[in-house]
Amino acid sequence: MAPQEADVLIVGAGLSGLIAARTVLAAGLTPLILEADTRVGGRILTEELGGLPVELGAQWIGDTHHRMFALAAELGVQTYPQYDDGETSYELAGTGVLRGNEFHSRFGDELAELEKVLRRLDELAAEVSPATPWTAPHAAEWDAITAGAWYDAQGLSPAARTLLEICTVGILAVPTVEVSFLHLLFTIQTCGVTSELFAESEGGAQTTRFVGGTAEIPNRLAALISEHIVFESPVQLIEYGTDSVVVHCRGGRTATGKRVIVALSPMLAGRIGYDPPLSGYRDQLTQRMPNSAAMKAFFIYDEPFWRSDGLNGQLISDIGPARMSNDTCVLGDDRGVILLFLEGEQARTHTQWSEEDRRAALTAELVRHFGDRAARPLHYLDGEWGSRQWTRGCYNANCGPLVWTTYGPALAEPIGPIHWASTDTATEWSAYMEGAVEAGERAAREVIEALTA
Ligand SMILES: Cc1cc2nc3c(=O)[nH]c(=O)nc-3n(C[C@H](O)[C@H](O)[C@H](O)COP(=O)(O)OP(=O)(O)OC[C@H]3O[C@@H](n4cnc5c(N)ncnc54)[C@H](O)[C@@H]3O)c2cc1C
Repeated sequence: MAPQEADVLIVGAGLSGLIAARTVLAAGLTPLILEADTRVGGRILTEELGGLPVELGAQWIGDTHHRMFALAAELGVQTYPQYDDGETSYELAGTGVLRGNEFHSRFGDELAELEKVLRRLDELAAEVSPATPWTAPHAAEWDAITAGAWYDAQGLSPAARTLLEICTVGILAVPTVEVSFLHLLFTIQTCGVTSELFAESEGGAQTTRFVGGTAEIPNRLAALISEHIVFESPVQLIEYGTDSVVVHCRGGRTATGKRVIVALSPMLAGRIGYDPPLSGYRDQLTQRMPNSAAMKAFFIYDEPFWRSDGLNGQLISDIGPARMSNDTCVLGDDRGVILLFLEGEQARTHTQWSEEDRRAALTAELVRHFGDRAARPLHYLDGEWGSRQWTRGCYNANCGPLVWTTYGPALAEPIGPIHWASTDTATEWSAYMEGAVEAGERAAREVIEALTA
């Protein structure tokens, strides 16, 4: 197979790689994306269930995801608001199922404790620069402990501590004992404040959905640059000199270019071979940024019966298997759709179960919260990401203790003609689609400056 040539080679046709390619092309340079899979979108994956689009991957954007709103408008993808009317259903600390109002009066003190801790987190996060978290005044101290240890030291009641864990695992998708406290503060700071990160209503990260499904975004983006994408081309080796790269794919494809943008999570970037080998410093980093663990499960019903009971379809549970759920009915369709989240330990445990057992346990949970009608879905689908060869876990990469302060500068710093993208390298909304766009644009800018200076 003759080598293909382009100015800029891009590894991965996730949102970050697609944005990088488009930006490079707009600057008059030729990109070539080498994508391992048979599709674009990576962690964005819309599947059909009972004729409805359901999101096994990314689903929402929030009010401050300005790049994503602009991209959707440019691509002609319509958006609609997340349904949020009614009470949330809770089960916490052995009380049985409580509706929102009852929960708030029963756990008022615990919620006040939680609020105080969230405000303190906002204050501390404000000291962390998302581009250089290791330079924060207390970086050494915060990176030496886990988020869980800091939480444990706040003197919280057991119920408040449990709620805090549920909220945080809902973002990081790993138990708080696995991430450094500095990483938690970095995450908060890349998103603004805790209220934006944790809230679903106004200002939160989960206010808005896409008509037709999130995959409309990468699919339409790819259609604009289709002649610059090759599929089923897993990159295995990147040979590089000062101003040149040769990329070798499984199956024998090779491509040559002046620069390469690796638009993969750090862990997957570390599974590629490099010749000459990358520094130990960079390799030690990619050995220490594992992807987290989450899965989503969808139930479709003939109607959203919980709404007429005054419920918003959300649950919060310390029993599980799911810790949280959402009403994810599709605009223009009368059927009811509930999405349950399994994150961190819940995902790790339940992916080992058979689908039948998982579905039965989740159905029982829905029945506890929303009544017997929840036992009669029309359709069910779940999906996890650890076994997907080209993702290997989601939502994102997290840092355990001492990673940011020891290896942080290696995350996004180019090495010769090799540049790093993916949402995991972003400084705004890292881990989200917004971050994937930011990182793709930033890596493309680096390359454009280098090649057109
Ligand atoms: C279940 C789930 C729910 C989520 N929910 C939300 C949400 O509601 N809102 C939100 O904003 N974000 C959400 N996210 C996160 C969001 O999907 C990601 O931040 C974003 O899609 C990451 O894009 P990326 O391009 O950085 O990486 P990826 O999407 O991971 O793209 C990497 C690409 O590289 C390819 N690849 C891998 N290895 C190779 C190789 N060796 N050679 C060539 N190609 C390779 C992959 O196939 C993939 O296409 C969610 C993610 C998941 C999985």
